[in-house]
Amino acid sequence: MDRVIAVEEHIATEAFLRTAHRLEVVPGDRAEIDLMRTVEGSDPLRAQLLDLDARIGVMDAIGQDLAVLSLNPPGVQPYPPEDAVPLAREFNDVLAGIVRRHPGRFAGLGTLAPQDPAAAAEEIRRVMGPLGLNGVMINSHTGGRYLDEPKFAPILEAAEDNGAPIYLHPRIPAMRGGYLDYGLSGAIWGYQAEAGLHAMRLVLGGTLDRYPRLTVVLGHLGEGIPFWLRRIDNRHAFARQVAGAATPMPKLELAPSEYFRRNFVLTTSGIDDPDVLGLALRAVGEDNIMFAIDTPYEDPAAAAAFLREAPLTEKQRAAIAHRTAERVFALR
Ligand code: MN
Repeated sequence: MDRVIAVEEHIATEAFLRTAHRLEVVPGDRAEIDLMRTVEGSDPLRAQLLDLDARIGVMDAIGQDLAVLSLNPPGVQPYPPEDAVPLAREFNDVLAGIVRRHPGRFAGLGTLAPQDPAAAAEEIRRVMGPLGLNGVMINSHTGGRYLDEPKFAPILEAAEDNGAPIYLHPRIPAMRGGYLDYGLSGAIWGYQAEAGLHAMRLVLGGTLDRYPRLTVVLGHLGEGIPFWLRRIDNRHAFARQVAGAATPMPKLELAPSEYFRRNFVLTTSGIDDPDVLGLALRAVGEDNIMFAIDTPYEDPAAAAAFLREAPLTEKQRAAIAHRTAERVFALR
């Protein structure tokens, strides 16, 4: 492999943690934030989020050239807009500085406060313009609301107009009912259920007919959707034929799987499984798959070994290792 780029690599800054950990949290997000404040407050994860020299040491050790950095989830989304908007701006300024000081090693995805859609749209223009970053990350729902809802239109418009890919990162589900027990709400199940639901809302709600040039990045090799894709097309066609269906589906220009191929790019974060990679390859092809580690939550050496050893052609491996990311995030 002549270049390795990993695209879901989380960081934090001392200043961000100091401010964010003192803020009031919106109703419904308390349990998630208590957990994330514990994660961000204790080593080794705290040190791994903050220490970028150590990060470069790990990258060198595993043969990784570049990391596309993003703020640790769920970012600024659990905070009231008057706190979240300036906090996102400050973090993005710092992130742009980090990227400028480490050419060739770091790129970055800006963080957004979707709770103020106009400010978030303005921040997309700043992230893609003067800050010179490579896209944005949105941590699924904001206060239980999803990007297909009309109030978020300014964000999707700005993302499309400014060529900003949206990395739709998971968080604990908004509707917590059955997720509350046995730790199900976290990364073991709730994360992928939540992000998969969000992606399916964008598809079935007709959002991608309104924003056909939008690029949505999904981690975990597509948050389960490649597994269900044939059934999704089949049941969508079936439901469209049934008059007066209980939950009517909007008429779409394309089949669901066609949006999945056109508008979505998947990353390998947290899934070192050749069978799932095979499913993802059949669903979207190697030109829509990127390597990701999910630092600091996964083992970088294991992820790099999977990329090296997975049953791929060299063309597929090069696409997943760097070519797709170079195209999607406009990396040089
Ligand atoms: Mn992650």
